[in-house]
Amino acid sequence: GTADIGLIGLAVMGQNLALNIAEKGFRVSVYNRSSSKTDDTIKRFQLEHSDFLGELEGFYSMESFVRSLKRPRKVVIMVKAGSPVDATISTLEKYLEPGDLIIDGGNEWYENTQRRADALSSKNVLYMGMGVSGGEEGARHGPSLMPGGPLEAWNLVKDILNKIAAQVDDGPCVTYIGPGGSGNYVKMVHNGIEYADMQLIGEVYDILRTISQKNHFEGNLYEIFERWNRGALQSFLIEITSQILQVKEKGNLLVDKILDQSGSKGTGMWTIQEAAKRGIPISTISAALDARYLSSFKDLRVSLSYQLHGVGAKEQNNIISSYGWNDFEFLASELEKALFAAKICCYGQGMALIQKASLDEQWNLDCAEIARIWKGGCIIRARFLDRIKEAYKRQPNLLSLLEDEHFVEDLNNCQLALRRVVSGASLLGIPVPALASALSYYDSFRQEILCSSQLIQAQRDFFGAHTYKRLDKEGVFHSKWSEDGTSIPIHNSS
Ligand code: NDP
Repeated sequence: GTADIGLIGLAVMGQNLALNIAEKGFRVSVYNRSSSKTDDTIKRFQLEHSDFLGELEGFYSMESFVRSLKRPRKVVIMVKAGSPVDATISTLEKYLEPGDLIIDGGNEWYENTQRRADALSSKNVLYMGMGVSGGEEGARHGPSLMPGGPLEAWNLVKDILNKIAAQVDDGPCVTYIGPGGSGNYVKMVHNGIEYADMQLIGEVYDILRTISQKNHFEGNLYEIFERWNRGALQSFLIEITSQILQVKEKGNLLVDKILDQSGSKGTGMWTIQEAAKRGIPISTISAALDARYLSSFKDLRVSLSYQLHGVGAKEQNNIISSYGWNDFEFLASELEKALFAAKICCYGQGMALIQKASLDEQWNLDCAEIARIWKGGCIIRARFLDRIKEAYKRQPNLLSLLEDEHFVEDLNNCQLALRRVVSGASLLGIPVPALASALSYYDSFRQEILCSSQLIQAQRDFFGAHTYKRLDKEGVFHSKWSEDGTSIPIHNSS
């Protein structure tokens, strides 16, 4: 065969990725289980290919598809994650030979990738799990790519991946992530961070909207997001928010007509499960996932909206004045700072999870590089990621982003605004689960002594004789709390 690379799975992501590969000067062969998507892809290629440097050819059987590929063969799979990937591999592998490479570009559970890599290694077929972010647009014009697996597999495809990835000031948005399922893992956490970032922006929007309506604010909300997008918050999600807030239908904002139930597809949930399993607090990401789940209880919310009380309109006006939020510019500036502080907490949570998994699994991940490849192509792309990259360059093993000297300064500058926003929103009855969780995360990490944990240890010892350690003495202790409570050292028999 003569094709540089093959691609199986021509739904939204695969089709766009195939066109991207052909545009950048490679010969790409494509195949899809049902032939109609292959036809669609060929049609799109014929329409768009005039300035393409490479070629695209469609195939209707797996065998002829594989035969069209140059050896060692490189095949990207972009089908639905889970059993469709296994089904695809079981047909594909019949035609592959030692040294060939399969790359799964779906949102796959990382352990599935490791299982498949082990199974295929007995046949000397290489296997990678590659996170692809950026949705349809990213796939077409340059995504952020997170490939994980054997280093020799990366070496086979790096020239292609470097060209098709999004390009930023410090290079293409792709790097060799690490061994095993680390590429899928990093993509999973990326999605968890994405949930939290979206929720934080949603909460800030709710505050802006509620107060602007109460105060009959004359201006346009989108202008605030547009302005933020020129500052420290500059990011794709802020940018699309300002665009969304300009779309009108019969003079009214379209967003006001959207059913208020947000869905999810599983990567957010995986992130929470993983964090719980590894003992890493990611409360802002959890809050974001919970907020999506809660939103689905629409009927219950409607019914409770008539039963459960908040604060009255007059009291709300007093709160708005006492916070100085009649001045809309001032409100916007406080929200900007609060959002920035919360973002540091939420990205810090995600990075801490990546660090922990890297240690546990011996992946040896480079967090500075991970932050760098998220700067372009992907949904969470943001100016702010440069600062995360710099933080990990200064200290590669940073336990928490909150420890980085520059973020310490940022947090100290913004914490009061976050505090006022969370308290003000709470008084007004506006739900801010992600902002509030970020503030509590910040405040918890700021405590030299967590009194709540002292009491919990006492309670655990009270009802379960779980014992406790002391701040002032070495050793392990137990008290008979319901009697005199004397602290008795427990001697280990060994
Ligand atoms: P879908 O997840 O909707 O998957 C559709 C594709 O899977 C089709 O090509 C379909 O083939 C194939 N397929 C489904 N079941 C089987 C099966 N049993 N055997 C063989 N093929 C099967 O496509 P997307 O393009 O949306 O996503 C592809 C992957 O990329 C997913 O893992 C997704 O999570 C991930 N992803 C998606 C993003 C997005 O924005 N959509 C962003 C980033 C990642 P057929 O046409 O024959 O039904």
